[in-house]
Amino acid sequence: MKYISTRGQAPTLSFEDAILAGLASDGGLYVPETLPQFSAEEIASWAGLSYQELAFKIMSPFVAGEVPDEDLRELIENTYSTFRHDAIAPLVQTAHNEFILELFQGPTLAFKDFALQFLGNLLDYVLKKRDQRVVIMGATSGDTGSAAIEGCRHSDNVDIFILHPHNRVSEVQRRQMTTVLEKNVFNIAIEGNFDDCQNMVKNSFGDQSFLPEDRQLVAVNSINWARIMAQIVYYFYAGLALGAPHRPVAFSVPTGNFGDIFAGYLAKRMGLPIDQLVVATNANDILHRCISNNDHSLHELVHSLSPSMDIMVSSNFERMLFDLYDRDGDAIKELMANFKETGKLALSEPALAKARELFTSCRLDDDAMIQVIADVWENTEYLLDPHTAIGVEAARKTRHRQDIPMVCLATAHPAKFPEAVRKAGYPQDPALPHHMADLFEREERYSVQPNDLSTVHQFIADNMR
Ligand SMILES: *Cc1c(COP(=O)(O)O)cnc(C)c1O
Repeated sequence: MKYISTRGQAPTLSFEDAILAGLASDGGLYVPETLPQFSAEEIASWAGLSYQELAFKIMSPFVAGEVPDEDLRELIENTYSTFRHDAIAPLVQTAHNEFILELFQGPTLAFKDFALQFLGNLLDYVLKKRDQRVVIMGATSGDTGSAAIEGCRHSDNVDIFILHPHNRVSEVQRRQMTTVLEKNVFNIAIEGNFDDCQNMVKNSFGDQSFLPEDRQLVAVNSINWARIMAQIVYYFYAGLALGAPHRPVAFSVPTGNFGDIFAGYLAKRMGLPIDQLVVATNANDILHRCISNNDHSLHELVHSLSPSMDIMVSSNFERMLFDLYDRDGDAIKELMANFKETGKLALSEPALAKARELFTSCRLDDDAMIQVIADVWENTEYLLDPHTAIGVEAARKTRHRQDIPMVCLATAHPAKFPEAVRKAGYPQDPALPHHMADLFEREERYSVQPNDLSTVHQFIADNMR
């Protein structure tokens, strides 16, 4: 399988090169040249497969010709062996034809483990094969950093540096990162905000001269194609469990960078009968405004109680635009250049019509979200995390058909976000799962650095192995 850029000007790459490249040289994102298609008969024949077996079926066409079958199987086996639940992605029913897909059974209690546990193993595999070492640099406001660190802590050929805003991530989130004491893991607390961290990372990718000649930076944010690919699997897994391909299914997805829901769109294109895809946003609602009002314009960032969705621009939306514009790289290049200049992007009539056929959208602010956690707790004694709550309510508000099962993706465990859960009237901090019960007693290691790029570069150069 070959990979092409959404802006049409960068070289076509192999799977492995696309994973290591991050952004394409023309500023675009890599996508597969063609999508694998599965017939209804083939999908039906997968009923009853384990999560790992299904992951192999779905991912193997994307790595064809590069990762041999037995190696892919081993990567998948290792990836999901760190999950606490045998089903990997269990389904729980919360109302008639309404299901929660628990994607928080991985080591850091958020759905990002599905992709980042896999990416960590994959990088280790590819780099060993090439006898190459790389530096991972990432910025996090919480969930991405811990999942990336957990995914890469055992990768011999990777040094990972994660920047978080000093004193501005929750204690659970900080400790999930800083109690990992492996020699290749470095947490940097920046005396600034999340944007400062992200800008440092962006600028570093643009100019990597602070690294020795034989090293490059690798991105672990959701622009990395391997992350999207790994996320397609759970849509099929849930769909099969609920009767697909014989019955259609629907999904509601709490959305930030549009990575997770984009994987759902791909599952649909690959043959899973998905009747409805709900884009659920918090007050940072650029995607909801785009789909409902054709208003994809920059607004001020709002700090919400669902912080993992607090983003102004969804980086993976460019992959969606590429398909909405019939894969016309020149058109995307122009759209994005214009957006950069004006902070606004309006879809063409045909692109908007296609987007509205594919997606429904809904926005919830903090007060509405808290009410949902309280209601679901009262009615079912099931405790939602704030991100998942937004997805559940978006589904209830926008679903087309009551007779089609609606799957709400649970993107995090409620124990990660005690503040929101308490505000909903839950009487105590929700308990962490057993394997993390001693999190607050564990030793931490991190370095506080000023909001200054050259100091951070020096720190990285001094500490990489
Ligand atoms: C990252 C994250 C999201 C948003 O996912 P995207 O792929 O960026 O849309 C939602 N919920 C939680 C808990 C997350 O960590």
